Amino acid sequence: MTTTHDHLVRATALGGRVRAFALDATGVVQELQSRHDTLPAVTAALGRTAMGALLLAAASLKEPDQLLTIDVRGDGPVRRILATADGQGRVRGLVGRPHVHAESRNGKLNVRGVVGTSGYLAVTKDLGMREPYRGMVELVSGEIGEDLVYYLARSEQTPSGVGIGVFVRPDLSVEAAGGFLIQLLPGVPDDDLAALEARVAGLPHPTELIRSGTTPEQMLEVLFPEGFQLLDRHPVSFHCPCSRERFASAILALGEAEVRRIIQEEEQPYTEVVCHFCNEPYHFSPVQMQGILDAAA
Ligand code: ZN
Repeated sequence: MTTTHDHLVRATALGGRVRAFALDATGVVQELQSRHDTLPAVTAALGRTAMGALLLAAASLKEPDQLLTIDVRGDGPVRRILATADGQGRVRGLVGRPHVHAESRNGKLNVRGVVGTSGYLAVTKDLGMREPYRGMVELVSGEIGEDLVYYLARSEQTPSGVGIGVFVRPDLSVEAAGGFLIQLLPGVPDDDLAALEARVAGLPHPTELIRSGTTPEQMLEVLFPEGFQLLDRHPVSFHCPCSRERFASAILALGEAEVRRIIQEEEQPYTEVVCHFCNEPYHFSPVQMQGILDAAA
């Protein structure tokens, strides 16, 4: 389902003192919407979080199998939004309650209305070390983009600009989703900084840019008219690493007594386990459940 337009670009500008990332993730966010059956404001919240994870992963992961997770827990009706991206542009996500909604504000999807304005945003980076890196900040806006800017400034001491947006059609499908991340390294002259801030402030909303056919490369052209150096371009996609084998291990982890109880008490012809990240169902018959126990014995 993911469209071939979906990709992320990585670049530097202003003599290497600015790192820039931009992406079109329309297909990815559409797949998240269909898999989780989200209503528009939740689609936008989940899509922004997933794109934030893809952008931060591109900015901070070095290896394909490293993982970056953004976990947003606000006091709004959706309760929780979580997205995990890996070092090769693949992302998955989940929401606490997909069917909540909030009245649109000024014709825009009310992301803050479903996320809430009080709570926290946590970022976990699994870099293959013994302990994952973990940073956490309180929510400052509930719109996700501003919360990520605050997280990057507060927790990683990196002044950044983030613009991410999702446009949902009346039939609930996703027409456009994209955005950018700019990170300033030490030593950007004040004049350049002021010019860049003015350009970011004057930029049409990322959703409008993607809707009008602007590619991630063209987004960077608008942000850096004096030029930039393109370092990398790679596809982004939805991907869930769940499998029947992983769920068999999870069933085994319940313990033999519990599995035996399920085998005896299950009234359906099979036990269904559903992955929270992709909503894929896995079915295990009593004979298959017994097989899991036997294989481990
Ligand atoms: Zn899954």
